[in-house]
Amino acid sequence: MKLIALNEGSYKFLKKSVPLNIKNNYNITVQPFLLNIKNFTYLIDTGLGFIDNDYKNNTILNNIEKYGYKHNDISKILITHLHPDHFGGLFRKNHNNKYEFNFPNSMIYVQKKEIEYFIDFYKNSLYSDMLQFLYNHKKTIFLNGNGVIDNIINYYITGGHTKYHQIFTLNNYNINYMFGGDIIAIPEHIDIKFKTSYDFDKTYAMYLRKKLTKIIHLNNYTCLLYHSKKYKIKVNFFEERYFPY
Ligand SMILES: [Zn+2]
Repeated sequence: MKLIALNEGSYKFLKKSVPLNIKNNYNITVQPFLLNIKNFTYLIDTGLGFIDNDYKNNTILNNIEKYGYKHNDISKILITHLHPDHFGGLFRKNHNNKYEFNFPNSMIYVQKKEIEYFIDFYKNSLYSDMLQFLYNHKKTIFLNGNGVIDNIINYYITGGHTKYHQIFTLNNYNINYMFGGDIIAIPEHIDIKFKTSYDFDKTYAMYLRKKLTKIIHLNNYTCLLYHSKKYKIKVNFFEERYFPY
């Protein structure tokens, strides 16, 4: 198994989107994860899809190549929720101003209710067009509730951050991994209790973080942290970028 944090960089969030008790911390890091296990290569969330000045290169695509993979190697993409920093990297615009998929051969796993909710939520914006394009894509796999993908990766709807937000877990050689999306996205989401301004249901999201913290400690989960600058992956504050199992 290989697990790689694909850093897309840091960007400024609007002030109102910052945890209420974290002062002067407006830089949000974005890092999708590449997971290679058995015959599958997964991408977990995609980043915003930043393109550089010549509009040819995508940071995540470059990072995937930097670690020795091609974008065609990504067989499956798992999406926790449909905020632009988690799904924007699925797309680019071609010269005719039409959307294309950055990973045309990949199956894309989204919660059905999540995409239907956000097509409506974003209506009359470019995000709605993007999600409609994803909705009509023949390689989109609609998930309904909880389950398991390839007998490897478990998915659970948590809600809280978005209405149908999901998290992923897997076990490999007795190490438990959790990709908590934006429920467990920074070290502060574990153990520390605070209400955020960026959750769909702030009270429930705080409850969820407390509940997941218990599960993380009980099962000694290694957390893959999407928005953490300091820690890519957190195992009792042990930091690693790359696991060559
Ligand atoms: Zn989010």
